[in-house]
Amino acid sequence: MNATPPPIPPHDLFGRPLRDLRLSLIEACNFRCPYCMPAERVPDDYGLDAASRLSLDEIETLVRAFVRLGVRKLRLTGGEPLLRRRLPELVARLAAIPELEDLALTTNGALLAPQARALREAGLRRITVSLDALDPGLFRALSGGRGEVEAVLAGIAAAHAAGFAPVKLNCVMQRGVNEDALFPLLEYARRHGHVLRFIEFMDVGTCNGWRRERVVPSRELRDRIHARWPLRPLQPHYRGEVATRYAFADGKGEVGFVSSVSEPFCGDCHRARVSADGRLYTCLFAATGHDLRPALAEGEAALARHVATLWSQRADRYSELRGTPVAPRRHVEMFLVGG
Ligand code: SAM
Ligand code: SF4
Ligand code: SF4
Repeated sequence: MNATPPPIPPHDLFGRPLRDLRLSLIEACNFRCPYCMPAERVPDDYGLDAASRLSLDEIETLVRAFVRLGVRKLRLTGGEPLLRRRLPELVARLAAIPELEDLALTTNGALLAPQARALREAGLRRITVSLDALDPGLFRALSGGRGEVEAVLAGIAAAHAAGFAPVKLNCVMQRGVNEDALFPLLEYARRHGHVLRFIEFMDVGTCNGWRRERVVPSRELRDRIHARWPLRPLQPHYRGEVATRYAFADGKGEVGFVSSVSEPFCGDCHRARVSADGRLYTCLFAATGHDLRPALAEGEAALARHVATLWSQRADRYSELRGTPVAPRRHVEMFLVGG
């Protein structure tokens, strides 16, 4: 006897709908940030096998299937998404899906300067650039010896000039590593009208040597910032917004905090992740993914039914279980699912 198919749009076992999709376009990266893809663990030629990636046609079908299930926000990521060929063409195809309300991209910014305008013209609405330090030597070390901060700053300026306003900046603060970058980064963001978000250092993947002592809790950062530039809490834009946002009382923009270690937000987690080779991860800390390619080969409707079934069986809440005996121990690598 066939099981009853799940309703569309589906809800998971905790009643959470599916609203956001993070789609990795490529598993390769031109950086080797030690907290994500340490050089000593990931060889230089990792992820360059284009044949294993979903094609542009497959990506469009996949996104349309997720949209049928209620996804309204899509973020393109990687690896480094700007390494993906024909990216503006892909963006234009995805931007043409009418139900998608938000189309964003996260990048390390090293290759952004020459591509920012084409991405904007293709219909990309928002861009986030990762920036953990302004000091050239520290930046280089944090990129695993691969990145130059000047190129990233040029990319951010080009994005701003192309009409991304504001540009969002992601910073992962690590105790004893880049804490001194706090005020220089804030001064830079305030001066240029960019929005800085601090993400707590997370125990993603299996190879970044995470230790709780290295996490700088958002509350501590917020208090340090507030002592220098008073902050005022902002209302969330929508339920389940990941960042807690504050406005600078002097009117010079806002700052956000993503506190998945110190203040888990699994209860409102409406996000699915798909790797570049078409595997669905229902949690950033899931051990394994579900191969979507067989259902994808049958088309949009079949894939939507399949994903609805998988989502309706979801019970992930790793950040609420972290440190307890029942917390899963194996996690997918961050560079496969893109954060
Ligand atoms: N390569 C692009 C970039 O760096 O922006 C996109 C992919 S990267 C995996 C997405 C985000 O994950 C980046 O902002 C990065 O700082 C963040 N990230 C990577 N490892 C992390 C960790 N261990 N804890 C918290 N954030 C992390
Ligand atoms: Fe690459 Fe981004 Fe991971 Fe750094 S955080 S290694 S830029 S995927
Ligand atoms: Fe969502 Fe998993 Fe993060 Fe919880 S730990 S917020 S379920 S991705």
